Amino acid sequence: MPINGLTVTGIVPGSIGDELGIEPGDKIIEINGQLVRDIIDYRFLTSDEELVVKLINSDGEEWLMEIEKDFDEDLGLDFGTETLGRIKRCQNKCLFCFVDQMAPGMRKSLYVKDDDYRHSFLHGNFVTLTNVREEELQRIINQRLSPLYISVHTTNPQLRRKMMSNPRAANIMYQLETLAEAGIEMHTQVVLCPEINDGEELSRTVHDLVDLYPQVRSLAVVPVGLTKYREGLAGLRRFTPKEAGKIVQQIENWQDNFIARFNYPFVFASDEFYIMSGRPIPPDERYADYPQIENGIGLTRIFLDQWAEAEQKLPQEISPPKKVALVTGSLAYTIIEPVVKRLNKIKGLKVNLYKISNRFFGESVTVAGLITGSDLLQQLPGKDLGDKIIIPAVMLKDQEGDVFLDDITLDELSNKLGVPIQPVNDPLELVETLVKD
Ligand code: SF4
Repeated sequence: MPINGLTVTGIVPGSIGDELGIEPGDKIIEINGQLVRDIIDYRFLTSDEELVVKLINSDGEEWLMEIEKDFDEDLGLDFGTETLGRIKRCQNKCLFCFVDQMAPGMRKSLYVKDDDYRHSFLHGNFVTLTNVREEELQRIINQRLSPLYISVHTTNPQLRRKMMSNPRAANIMYQLETLAEAGIEMHTQVVLCPEINDGEELSRTVHDLVDLYPQVRSLAVVPVGLTKYREGLAGLRRFTPKEAGKIVQQIENWQDNFIARFNYPFVFASDEFYIMSGRPIPPDERYADYPQIENGIGLTRIFLDQWAEAEQKLPQEISPPKKVALVTGSLAYTIIEPVVKRLNKIKGLKVNLYKISNRFFGESVTVAGLITGSDLLQQLPGKDLGDKIIIPAVMLKDQEGDVFLDDITLDELSNKLGVPIQPVNDPLELVETLVKD
């Protein structure tokens, strides 16, 4: 998505840019004769020691500046937040797409389908590569945009094409092989749909991808998420607990094989599969270096290990006495229940644990991260909430801090429920809140 240069929004005092007299509003057009299309081009091109920078100032005058600098020296220019130009949109129509299953009437941004390989490189977003042309594949290679995060779903070309309703989806193995040959590291994922890309198809996908190890560094297998807003969409169902158990077993068998071959498990079942199946969360070693932690894989193991550490430091008694409500989604409930049981052994502390069903998206959505403010507002009145409500911080939107997915704010909810609400990130914070506050 080329744009014509990057507009400077700020200059670090004393930097090269400052010494050259670059000003906010100036636009960097070219560096060493190469068009600057976005911040990735800018960073790549400014890594040279000798630069010829072409810029246009706010009066429309064109300037050429020659710069000599150290290899890792920055020009000290800031470009604000609009540094990628037009974002590449998704050209697929995946049968399991979560965006298509959003509740109506939510903020516009929640319906946006990004599929931009630059976001994958910069922020770890999963992309499909179906909208990546040959020259963009070469750009990824030339500029070493690595690692990338790629939604594969299946390596069977016909099946991928069908699952994503896009003929270009069939090229995935060519794209992965081209990137792997060039040394680009990739983390991949499969959204697993019952009777579609599981069983033999999953086996094929795992083996095709592990053949590209270590360039394809990891594979996460996550279950399809279904909301109640599926009218007019493909008929899909959830995995049963028994099926989830079989998938976990299949993945653990592959892990054993890959650990023996590469000393690395490579393929990881999502936490949801473990909890759905009732099988124990695997030990830390099974997650290796937690390559898919941003995708939620291994968060429960980390939670349990942090809890084991926090548990060592629990007091026998707290004073003054305290009563709180702790809420979670139905998936994590079985994990949190023993934690609360132990906390309630502390003299003076009473924690009431409440399982919140997701009525907003539908009860088959069980993760805490998709519980909305309106779910809490509907289900908590009349319950014994004590002095405060503690919620997992994942219930709040990443960037805006104190807002739920449905735009209800923490303050609004707290006022309506008549008690303060505190988000916590992990068991250590939870214990600190309960014991030290
Ligand atoms: S790639 Fe598929 S799942 Fe992702 S936004 Fe596009 S249609 Fe939805």
